[in-house]
Amino acid sequence: MKKQGILFIISAPSGSGKTTLCNKLLQKIDGIARSVSMTTRSPRPGEKDGRDYIFITKEEFLKRRSRKEFLEWAEVFGEYYGTPEKKVWGYLNKGRDVLLSIDVQGAMKIKKLNLKAVFIFILPPNFEELKNRLKSRSTEGIEDLNLRLSVARREIEMAKKYDYTIINDRFNEALSKLRAIILSERRKALSKI
Ligand code: 5GP
Repeated sequence: MKKQGILFIISAPSGSGKTTLCNKLLQKIDGIARSVSMTTRSPRPGEKDGRDYIFITKEEFLKRRSRKEFLEWAEVFGEYYGTPEKKVWGYLNKGRDVLLSIDVQGAMKIKKLNLKAVFIFILPPNFEELKNRLKSRSTEGIEDLNLRLSVARREIEMAKKYDYTIINDRFNEALSKLRAIILSERRKALSKI
């Protein structure tokens, strides 16, 4: 019997360094695929369609949502984001692990589905540091920054609902912890066969 892959869900408030951590992790570990989400937001400089996200219009997103093509979806800062479901099951059924880098709303939707998944939350070292990182992302001044900070506060509150939390203080340490979690969950899954 071939074992099914493990679904790893990673969330973090914006500015916690989650994307860099996940990208490095994928280079360091074999057998894990990143699910590429669909989003209605515009690409940022350097982002590539199909690699970072699949960029689609709101109309297309809503069409796909009504066809129930998403395993989960959420609205974040006025834009839609969703995980295409078929791809995820394709990987899992072939025994490949899957990494979903999604926000807390989406993660809680997956929790409600009662799927077997491992939930990991990345925390910024402290609030001051988060504020500094968010300043560079807040394109619309102080109001935008305050909105991002209050959303981050609410998201951090949700960390207790996750199986693991990692503080991204020193990047390499955070990366080793993340890797150790993946390897240990794989061992646990193997011992259950
Ligand atoms: P960004 O626009 O900065 O890339 O992402 C904003 C937020 O949306 C991040 O927390 C990111 O993890 C989350 N996100 C990205 N893809 C998905 C998805 O498919 N579903 C959900 N629920 N959140 C997503």
